[in-house]
Amino acid sequence: MGEAGRAEFMRTSRCSRPGHGLASRAVTNSLWFPDAHPADSDMCVAYFCAEFGISANIPIYSGGLGILAGDHLKAASDLAIPLVAVGLFYYDGYFRQAIDGTGQHERYVEHTGTDIGAVPVTDDDGRAIRITVDLPDGRLHASVWRLMVGSVTLVLLDANIPENAPAEREITARLYGGNRETRIRQELLLGIGGVRALGAMGIAPTVFHLNEGHSVFLQLERLRVLIDAGATFDDALAEVRRTSMFTTHTPVPAGNEVFSEELAAAYLERAAAGIGLPMNQLMALGKVTDEPGFGLTPLALRTTARANGVSQLHGEVARRMWHGLWPDRSIDAVPIGAVTNGVHVPTWLERGIADLATAAGVDLEVPAAPGFAHAASMPEPSLWRAHRANVARLVALANTRGAVAGARPRLDPDALTIGFSRRFATYKRAGLLFRDPDRLARILGAPDAPVQVILAGKAHPADNDGKALIMMVTALAADPRMAGRVVFVPDYDMAIGAHILQGTDVWLNTPRLPMEASGTSGMKAAINGALNLSILDGWWAEGYTPSVGWAIDDGTIAGTDDEQDDRDHESLMRLLETVVVPAFYDRDGGGVPRTWTAMMRDAIARVGEQFSAARMVRDYTDGYYVPTHRDGRAR
Ligand SMILES: *Cc1c(COP(=O)(O)O)cnc(C)c1O
Repeated sequence: MGEAGRAEFMRTSRCSRPGHGLASRAVTNSLWFPDAHPADSDMCVAYFCAEFGISANIPIYSGGLGILAGDHLKAASDLAIPLVAVGLFYYDGYFRQAIDGTGQHERYVEHTGTDIGAVPVTDDDGRAIRITVDLPDGRLHASVWRLMVGSVTLVLLDANIPENAPAEREITARLYGGNRETRIRQELLLGIGGVRALGAMGIAPTVFHLNEGHSVFLQLERLRVLIDAGATFDDALAEVRRTSMFTTHTPVPAGNEVFSEELAAAYLERAAAGIGLPMNQLMALGKVTDEPGFGLTPLALRTTARANGVSQLHGEVARRMWHGLWPDRSIDAVPIGAVTNGVHVPTWLERGIADLATAAGVDLEVPAAPGFAHAASMPEPSLWRAHRANVARLVALANTRGAVAGARPRLDPDALTIGFSRRFATYKRAGLLFRDPDRLARILGAPDAPVQVILAGKAHPADNDGKALIMMVTALAADPRMAGRVVFVPDYDMAIGAHILQGTDVWLNTPRLPMEASGTSGMKAAINGALNLSILDGWWAEGYTPSVGWAIDDGTIAGTDDEQDDRDHESLMRLLETVVVPAFYDRDGGGVPRTWTAMMRDAIARVGEQFSAARMVRDYTDGYYVPTHRDGRAR
C-alpha cells in the first residue's frame, strides 16, 4: 500500500473520527494490519486498562501491567492495528518514592492533562465532552482527555471537574489509591464511563478487550444499551460475549479483585436495574460457585467469549485456577488460551546497542519483518564496549542517587553488575539474594572477581510486607559487610528502570513459583545484552535456553514456602559462585569474555525476535481480535 492508501486507511479507520482530529497523524511505518487482514478494515478494538505506562513523565502507571499496556499501544500503532484505548487520568498519579533510615516515603505530584500532552475531547460544536455515571449517592461527572500514542488514541476519563463535589473530584486522584469504595468508583467510571465516552466520540468498537478485570463493568453498560434497544437479557449477553475478550494477568489472589457483596450490591444497584437482573443473579456472575464476595475475574470470564493468560505457563495456571467456571470440562479444555507478553523494542533498546543491531541487519523500523536474528552477527568486542558504556552510565547514576539511608555506594563500572528492579511485591522475593548476607558478601568482595547489586522498586503504600523488604534491602546496602556494593536507587520509574535494565550484566528475577504470570523486565534487559538469571516462572519458562541465561532451580514446587526459599537460594548462590562469576571473568587477550558475549548476542537475537510487543500484538490480532470481530459481524 502506498502513501495515498496509507492515508486513506488511517482516515477511514473506525477507531478514528476525522471530526475529532484522531486521524490527523499517520505516523505508522508499516501497514501490517491492512496488508495481513484486508477483509477486516472495519475492525476497531477498544482496549481498556486501569493503567498505562507510556513514558516516565506520564505517571499513570504503577508496574508491569501498565507498562505492558503502553507497549501494546505503541506496537499497535507501529503495525497500524485499528485500536483505541481507554483509561483514567489520575491527577496525583502514582507516588514518588523517597528513602531514608525509616523506609519508604510517598509523595504525590499534582498534574493536569495538559501537563502530560493530552487535549480535551470536544463535540462538533467545540464544547468539551462530559459523561456521567450513576453512583449510589448521586451522579459522577467526568471530562475526557485524548492522548495520542503514535497513531493510537488513548482516551482518559477525569473526575476532577467543577461539576463534582470535592470528594468526587478525588475519585481519580491516585492510581490504586484510597479505599475499597474509591476503587469501585474508579472502576465504574473506567468501565461504564469508558463506553459512554467512546459513544460520545462517535467511536463504535467491534471488539472490546478487557485488559485485566478492573474495567469489567463496561460489560454491564454494553448489556444495558442492548437491552434498552429491545434485546432480551440472554441475547444481549450472547452479543456482548461474542464481541469481547479478557486477559487475566496474575495468579496472585490480591491481584484478582474481589469486592464485598454489600459494597458491590450498593454500587451495582443501578446497573442491575438497567439490565433487569435481580441482584442475587448479578452477584452470582461474580462468583465461581458460592464463595463469598463479588469477583471481577469471574464476571469477566463469564461475559467474554475469549480469554487468555500472558505466558504459556500462566495459561496453564489460569486454566487450573478458573476450572470451577467450567466444571464439566477437563482442565485442558478450559477456554483460556495464552499470548505471551512482549516488550516494545524501540522504547527499551538503548541507542548504542540499537546502532549495532541495525549495522548487523536488524530493521528496527519494520517491526513485522522477522529480522532480529541478524543481531546474532554483531561483532562481540563492539557489543562488549557498547554495553560497558551502559554499565558505566548506570554506575555513575547509582553512585550518586543510591546514597540514601546511610549507604555509601562504591560501584565499579568493570565489576559484574546484577540488576533487580520491579515492584516490591512480596511474591517477587527481593530478599532471596540476601538470605545469607555473609555468603553474599564473600561473592561481592572477591578481590579478582568483584560483583555488585543494583536494586530499585516501590512497594504499594498499603503493602507493609513490601515496605519491610525495602527496609531490609536498604539496611543491607548500608551494612559494612557489603562494602558499598549493594545499592538501592530510590524512586523507581520507567526512566530509572531503563537505566538499570540497560546497564546490568545479569538480570535477576526470583518470583515464587507460579506467581509471576509473565514478567517483562527480563525481556527488556535481554534485548540490551543482559543475561537472565531467573526462576523458571512466567516468560522464562519458555524463553530459557542455556545459550541465553540461567535457570535458578528446576521449576518445581515442593515443601513449605520456607523450604522452597532455601532451595531456590542455594541454587542461586551456587550458580553465581560456580558458573556466572567465573564466566564473566574468563577473558580473551583483548579483555573480552567470549563465552559471555556469545550469550549476549544470542539473548538479543532470540528475545528480540520472540518477545517483542510486535509479535505479541500480531498474536492478539490473528488469534483473538480478528476472530472476535468476525464473530460479531456474522450476526
Ligand atoms: C518492565 C517494567 C516492570 C515490570 O517488571 P517485572 O519484572 O516484569 O515485574 C515494572 N515497572 C517498570 C517501570 C517497568 O519498566
